Amino acid sequence: MFAIDHAATALLIKRRYHAVPMAPILISVQAMELAWVALNYLGVERTTTNSIVRSVADIHLAYMPYSHSVGSAIVAALAVWLIIEKGFRRPVLGRAIGLGILSHLILDLLTHGHDIVLWPGLASPRLGLGLYEAAPFAAFIVEFVYGVLCWGIYRGSRGLLALIVICNLANLSFFSAAIPGPESYLAGRPLLLVTVILVQIVVTLVFVGTLARRATFRPSANSALQLGRQISTGSAS
Ligand SMILES: [Zn+2]
Repeated sequence: MFAIDHAATALLIKRRYHAVPMAPILISVQAMELAWVALNYLGVERTTTNSIVRSVADIHLAYMPYSHSVGSAIVAALAVWLIIEKGFRRPVLGRAIGLGILSHLILDLLTHGHDIVLWPGLASPRLGLGLYEAAPFAAFIVEFVYGVLCWGIYRGSRGLLALIVICNLANLSFFSAAIPGPESYLAGRPLLLVTVILVQIVVTLVFVGTLARRATFRPSANSALQLGRQISTGSAS
């Protein structure tokens, strides 16, 4: 899944755990991607492209067993959750961050080509529904609808909706070989692709975080009551 829609997932988690600050939630939903960026720069993980890049189908996440395997994501989510809940005694924060890490795996499994292994060292099976390879435009629709759905559930501001719509539309050429776009410059330049994705991650996290503060969402009477209970029992983090 592209950066804007991973960032939009933070809205769902914030809606559920509204006492948790937005910053750690935003970082958690992109933790796997940030690890992927670092490991690509270090040469541990590898990305390749076809000689001509016309869409996301021509970009291959060839080797990323540490940042994007089912096992590493689950272990990281569990470890962070347990450390924060048991070690720092902040259970709500721990659950929100653990969920954020896990959300990235689930969303990538729904959209990626067959490039997510079960565990580092296992070459097969390689999971992923395969939308990016087989039906990139369907992936665009899925991502667009998902991003807007996150905004709707969060009851965000119009500015936040505009951000989600504009960022999804900006990626359109990546999802259709028929639409020319900047992706053609990425052919043979996998580290440029990594840098583009890093910039997208940072920009979308900062803007979603900023615009989410102007949300029209107000806790309902029920959730305000729940929040009051959490604070009085000391479980709010
Ligand atoms: Zn990812």
